[in-house]
Amino acid sequence: MTDTPLIPLVIGNRILNEASDGVGRSFDPATGAVVAEYVRAGEAEVEMAVAAAREAFDNGPWRRMRPFERGRVLHRIGELMLARRDEIARKESTDSGKPLRDSYWEVDCSARFFEFYGGAADKLQGNSIPLGPDWSDWTVKEPVGVSLHIIPWNYPFQLIARGVAPALAAGCAVIIKPSADTPVTAYEFVKICQEAGLPEGLVNLVNGRGSLAGDLLARHRGVDQITFTGSVPTGERVLVAAASHAVPCNMELGGKSPQILFADADLDRALPLVAGGFLTHCGQVCNAGTRLFVERSVHDKVVERLHARISAMTLGAGIDDPDMGPLINKGHRQDVEAYYDVARKEGELLLGAELPSAPALADGAFVRPGLVVGADNATRIAREEIFGPILTVIPFDTAAEAVAGANDSPFGLVAGIHTTNIDKALGVGEKLRVGQVWINSFGVGLDVEFPFGGYKLSGYGREKGLEALAAYQQVKNIAIHHPMP
Ligand code: NAD
Repeated sequence: MTDTPLIPLVIGNRILNEASDGVGRSFDPATGAVVAEYVRAGEAEVEMAVAAAREAFDNGPWRRMRPFERGRVLHRIGELMLARRDEIARKESTDSGKPLRDSYWEVDCSARFFEFYGGAADKLQGNSIPLGPDWSDWTVKEPVGVSLHIIPWNYPFQLIARGVAPALAAGCAVIIKPSADTPVTAYEFVKICQEAGLPEGLVNLVNGRGSLAGDLLARHRGVDQITFTGSVPTGERVLVAAASHAVPCNMELGGKSPQILFADADLDRALPLVAGGFLTHCGQVCNAGTRLFVERSVHDKVVERLHARISAMTLGAGIDDPDMGPLINKGHRQDVEAYYDVARKEGELLLGAELPSAPALADGAFVRPGLVVGADNATRIAREEIFGPILTVIPFDTAAEAVAGANDSPFGLVAGIHTTNIDKALGVGEKLRVGQVWINSFGVGLDVEFPFGGYKLSGYGREKGLEALAAYQQVKNIAIHHPMP
């Protein structure tokens, strides 16, 4: 007998405590302790999940409900999330390692997605199109069908909500495939959906290995659409799987986001945003601002102030809400450490060289933040997504040079601009090839209202905002010819 919780599969109205690919384990990144075991789906369970979602979509009550009734269920899901905020946030911090305040944000933001898309459910209107005399023509928005959500480990709860809320609002059925590193809060998500009265089979939970369950789901002809959030190499594999049955995808991939800091910026305002931009969740954020372009005249001052700020940071287990938690696991820590060596070769590593030595941190996947100077934008340290807390600082002399550097990247997710000159801010913002531009800001908190997504290798399609709904809808055109007798 063990006290370790077991995360089951949830398929239709069935809770499966066993499946054909056995059981996996999830670990607390701060201590290495087992947090939970989870049932891993194989081929048989993938077949069951797709069949359950298809049945719920094709014959279940969801599409027959009036849109405002669907909206009410979504609102209830948001309310239940907030009611269980503390419990979910604690589980999230233990499973993913992120500081508790960030886990509270995840739950709050997830509830906002359900409020926002609950309110949108009865506003999914089509158009009437003028074809001239004797014709009537209009479009209707229909749900795309069974929507597959493949989720990474960095924001396990919030990224499920981000995709599933608009999919449900549009009338779809969904299958959730969480990351094998963070299976815990996905189950809480599904339980809340059931408690809120979501019809059976509409939300299915399929934990398992990406290379097996994830791949089988992405290839399955019963899946009509895929929302993938994760790395570029896995995203490319998912796209090949999706191409094998010609289904559309929303691809939310990686980033190497620039922050541009002009000499006229208010440093007291800008530097906390720069630091937070690459240190949040130990740098394991797709839109982390990991390249800092600084106007040369303030370069040394900025580096000095960032150095002082970062050196004073506390590390600890997420549940204790430290300044910074651990990386997701020790394997990933090895990858991040390798970049400290790259930084030493390509520039100067001012901070980050030593692993934390405190006994309380010995069993966790902790690293110190890295601050790199003297490496230009062509180096690996400035071009590759590290997914760890490393900032490369690059000086510039003109705004045009800063724009060219910021755009010279395989990625194009977000960018930050720090200046007190409005012409400069807007002029630079206009020229950046990214999906989101932040001016004297870097994130607003519960920002579900506006679209989010990337250019270039950061992917395509948009999450959040009303734009996200398009991924979960088909547009049907209906034309009537009615010549007057
Ligand atoms: P990952 O690509 O390793 O895994 C993502 C998901 O894909 C997991 O659920 C995994 O099990 C699954 N998977 C793996 N192989 C698969 C396959 N062959 N077929 C189908 N599914 C498969 O990503 P990760 O390491 O979990 O997350 C980190 C990455 O996610 C980073 O690159 C980060 O930038 C990106 N990310 C992007 C956004 C965004 O909105 N743009 C948000 C968060 C994270």
